[in-house]
Amino acid sequence: MLAARFHGAGRPLALDDVPVPEPGPDEVRVRVHAAGVCGTELHFVDGLYAPSRTPMTLGHEAAGTVDAVGSAVTGWAEGDRVAVYYYLFCGSCRWCLRGRQNLCLAPRGVLAFAADGAFAEQLVVPAHCLVRLPAEISFDAAAPLCCAGTTAVHALAEAEVEPGEIVVVLGTGGVGLAVVQDARRRGATVVAVSRDAGRRKAALAAGATVAVPPADAADAVDRLSGGQGADVVVELAGVTATLELATGMLGRRGRLVLVGYSADALTVSPLAMVVAEQRVLASVGNTLAELEQAVALAAAGQLTPPVAATMPLTAVNEALDRLRAGEVTGRLVLHPQG
Ligand SMILES: [Zn+2]
Ligand SMILES: [Zn+2]
Repeated sequence: MLAARFHGAGRPLALDDVPVPEPGPDEVRVRVHAAGVCGTELHFVDGLYAPSRTPMTLGHEAAGTVDAVGSAVTGWAEGDRVAVYYYLFCGSCRWCLRGRQNLCLAPRGVLAFAADGAFAEQLVVPAHCLVRLPAEISFDAAAPLCCAGTTAVHALAEAEVEPGEIVVVLGTGGVGLAVVQDARRRGATVVAVSRDAGRRKAALAAGATVAVPPADAADAVDRLSGGQGADVVVELAGVTATLELATGMLGRRGRLVLVGYSADALTVSPLAMVVAEQRVLASVGNTLAELEQAVALAAAGQLTPPVAATMPLTAVNEALDRLRAGEVTGRLVLHPQG
């Protein structure tokens, strides 16, 4: 089968012919019909961090159909439509038992990071990583739920966003647009911040109350909050400039939510934070229950991460180049079945 594999930083992904993986007793094989291209893939290719081995098949947003089931698997049959939870969690450590599979102490792998991922015709995962996809959700719509959509659901759940609060979204890529949608669903007033006019337009279409460039963000928050500041700032860019913007906009009991990976340092004034009872939260990925929730929200028409374009798997490097160039509004989705 065809797989787009990482062989080292600074090199394009190779389109390799690899053996079709066989599921173990408690595993399933999924025929990948749609695979989203996340900024994380770019971080591998550009050398911000490395997968646990090379070569590694990248991709961690996968939707498709069950293709084969292991001998001990029950409840799944060939042809079932599924979304894949990308943390291949153990199911028995203290964090799995608390429903926090994203913090699993002994995962079998994480797609693209430490297990072959979704940029392939087929993929093998533990059966407990599958979430059933209702017929009304297309594979193209489902794939971006697996990271972008459900990361947004998790970040806003961690921030405990309430109706009437002001939520600022710094960065309007695939995750950011989903954060905008889910913050609106929660009844928040949403300020989307992006340097790119096309993305600001997309943020407004996703439900943002206002969409502004970074230089105008503080004024927009002042105006909407009557000078009180933001209740929640979701920081998705992870660079010093946006981190400083974020801390400067927080109001009393404001929560700064750091999402994903950043190499830049966060500097805060403990005094300023203490007197305003502000909090800094970190949010990584999502739980299995939140992927189920994201799928349910999508089925109800309440969470639809925008798909920028669909492309064949063979165009993966072009997709990565477009993402790197900042030309993508929403998610690019690859079609490994051609
Ligand atoms: Zn991702
Ligand atoms: Zn675990």
